[in-house]
Amino acid sequence: MQNPEPPITPVTEPRPRLMRQYELVERVRAYDPTVNEDLLNRAYVFSMQAHGTQMRASGDPYFSHPLEVAGILTDMKMDSTTIATALLHDTVEDTLASQDDILKQFGPNVARLVDGVTKLSRIELQTDQAKQAENFRKLVVAMSEDIRVLLVKLADRLHNMRTLKHLANPDKRRRIARETLDIYAPLAQRIGIEKMQDELEDLAFAELNPDARNSIVARLNFLRSEGEGIADKVLKELKEVLSKNGVEAELEGREKTPYSIWRKMQRKNVGFEQLSDIMAFRIVVSSIEYCYQALGVIHSHYHVIPGRFKDYISTPKPNQYQSLHTGIMGPEQQRIEIQIRTNEMHEVSELGVAAHWGYKAGAPRTDGLQYRWLRELLDIVEHVQKPEEFLENTKLELFQDQVFCFSPKGDLIALPRGASPVDFAYAVHSRVGDACVGAKVNGRMVPLRTQLRNGDQVEIVTQKGGTPSPAWERFVITGKAKACIRKFIRTQQRTEYVLLGKSILEKLCKQEGVDFSDKAFDAIAKNFQSTTVEDLLANVGASLQPAREIFNAAYPNHRLKAPEKPIGVVPAMKARPKTNAPLTLKGLIPGMAVHYARCCHPLPGDSIVGIVTTGKGVTIHTTDCETLESFARAPERWIDVGWSDEKDKADMMVGRLDIVLVNAPHSFGGVTTVIGKNNGNITNMKITNRTPEFFDILVDVEVKDLDHLTNIIAALRANKAVNSVDRTKGR
Ligand code: MN
Repeated sequence: MQNPEPPITPVTEPRPRLMRQYELVERVRAYDPTVNEDLLNRAYVFSMQAHGTQMRASGDPYFSHPLEVAGILTDMKMDSTTIATALLHDTVEDTLASQDDILKQFGPNVARLVDGVTKLSRIELQTDQAKQAENFRKLVVAMSEDIRVLLVKLADRLHNMRTLKHLANPDKRRRIARETLDIYAPLAQRIGIEKMQDELEDLAFAELNPDARNSIVARLNFLRSEGEGIADKVLKELKEVLSKNGVEAELEGREKTPYSIWRKMQRKNVGFEQLSDIMAFRIVVSSIEYCYQALGVIHSHYHVIPGRFKDYISTPKPNQYQSLHTGIMGPEQQRIEIQIRTNEMHEVSELGVAAHWGYKAGAPRTDGLQYRWLRELLDIVEHVQKPEEFLENTKLELFQDQVFCFSPKGDLIALPRGASPVDFAYAVHSRVGDACVGAKVNGRMVPLRTQLRNGDQVEIVTQKGGTPSPAWERFVITGKAKACIRKFIRTQQRTEYVLLGKSILEKLCKQEGVDFSDKAFDAIAKNFQSTTVEDLLANVGASLQPAREIFNAAYPNHRLKAPEKPIGVVPAMKARPKTNAPLTLKGLIPGMAVHYARCCHPLPGDSIVGIVTTGKGVTIHTTDCETLESFARAPERWIDVGWSDEKDKADMMVGRLDIVLVNAPHSFGGVTTVIGKNNGNITNMKITNRTPEFFDILVDVEVKDLDHLTNIIAALRANKAVNSVDRTKGR
């Protein structure tokens, strides 16, 4: 396939030459009459001189980079301090200039911001996960102090992504793109800078999955040429209908990005056929009253698609986004998506926090803590011990949309999509989470791994002295729940290690004919980097300290002779007995026979539940399998199971797809090629129905896990011979 023209809309126009000093000042003055001209001029000259003859991988002078970053921030109408920070952001890291020089020449505000950005820049130099996570932690702390640090960092990343192609090392390119997708794009989304999020995602997508992106771009080009003029017709008719009914509005049609289409194809059961898949229409009016009036006019003129209406005006998203969303059958009998908002809401949706941050806000006091999600991140920072956990927890959380659930008293609790009653319990209070033993959703008992849905009323059943189950870790998704469960497991492990350490030393004492006494060990604990005797015992139990040395130190007169039998292995620490349970499952009793249900073909990554059948063992179903309804009255047969972490060791498993294929030459070839290209192995294929236009086919594919199958489904949906693809569920 030819490389189609990538439809990336840059936030700024490409600049053929370096922006001059006065041009930068004028750009800021255009939106901020109080521009600090002197500061900008000095920062410009300082940066240019500091970077001197340094070059970028692109062959441009290095100074072009901070200048472009400053340019991106002028598009976001940022204040002079932020622009100066952008100009200086690489001087401490990459030139002879010191933090002190910045402080002396530009004062404490700019110095503090530059320092924040400099610290974050070290993320890019880390390949080590742990160090990267530690730096991400710093990022959160820094931006909670002043969110302008994050805005400069995001602009820096955006320019680096735009120039990514100049890096020669493909591993490095991929790593940077991955990190952009995992960390920076979600952060841009969280602070509501939609434009920047779109561009970051699309640039990363182009690097990470060029095949998928190219095929989507090709389909976009095709649909665009086929639907030539439809968008204009829709815009014209909508405007007329609104204006006749007394609503003056500005309208625009916006094409979705290839990456957002890809995500949608992965997530939802939608094909890629309709105008609604590529265009979103926006109606911008002058007041909230007009928003609802416009909605009324549209709903009374067109056929409304059920389930698409969302009111983000009365319930704004966590990033402060507000709009009305709806879907209708449009003037050309095409499904179309419409967003209705005021001018102000529009600005917030484009610029996010930056909309409040420009000179307009008066003193740009940037108390990031007003953002609830930021407070939550800080909360997690305080709860986790290992930085890797932090990265893992937060990455997940940043990606999710939210569901809103209610407590029995009617309190609203927002959780990430995919959250379980256990997440809910921990969101209420860590004590509730720890003591949770069951849950009722909308009045019915449900397995704890059930995924909560919008509007669910959740009642947590607690028991005094209840403790978290390690199995919960498999399905909870909020950082708080994970951190609490891990903390419990760690404490529990420690108790076990202390007991184990004690029993090892007791054995040694017995063997040597001395009485075991805490005192003797307490006296020497400090010699072994332990503050208490318990620490010492735990270290022995965890085999961090050799028992024999400890004994020798505590009882110098009873020096051990030659080691006899190895000491330290006690039955409790032996490898678990072999079980019939596949390596890939957790939560099962050893020795139980396990089958995967034929109705729903569960895959690693699916939310699953086990059903016990006497004499047959356990059958594993996906939690949304329709067959489960027949077991609703027998809760005693349900057991909580989950996938183990050892995915790599897992065998390939079969996923079943229902595909509707256009009856045309090469249709089948297209399907097998796409599946093969995505490393899926077809094990069975059957035509279940045939009409002159379409084939219904059933395909069994061996895949690694749910992600793998989801990728194949999305790739199939992008194929033009494919009308629809769905996973077979409960049949
Ligand atoms: Mn930089």
